[in-house]
Amino acid sequence: MKILVDADLCQGHAVCQDEAPAAFHVPKHGQAEVLPAAGDPEVRADVQRAVRYCPTQALSIVEDS
Ligand code: SF4
Repeated sequence: MKILVDADLCQGHAVCQDEAPAAFHVPKHGQAEVLPAAGDPEVRADVQRAVRYCPTQALSIVEDS
């Protein structure tokens, strides 16, 4: 599983970091960064919540083929 951040949409709200702190880091006045642990199965539910609640729908999950 890979998590993509659309840089055209991300406005740095940091909802993703609140929902999945192991998977995202949002610097002050910056855009979301995907952390190495984001693909771990144990954070999957948190990542899915982050994708759902991102206010600009900037996140997407790409499943491994
Ligand atoms: S919640 Fe969405 S808009 Fe906000 S920092 Fe995360 S990806 Fe960007």
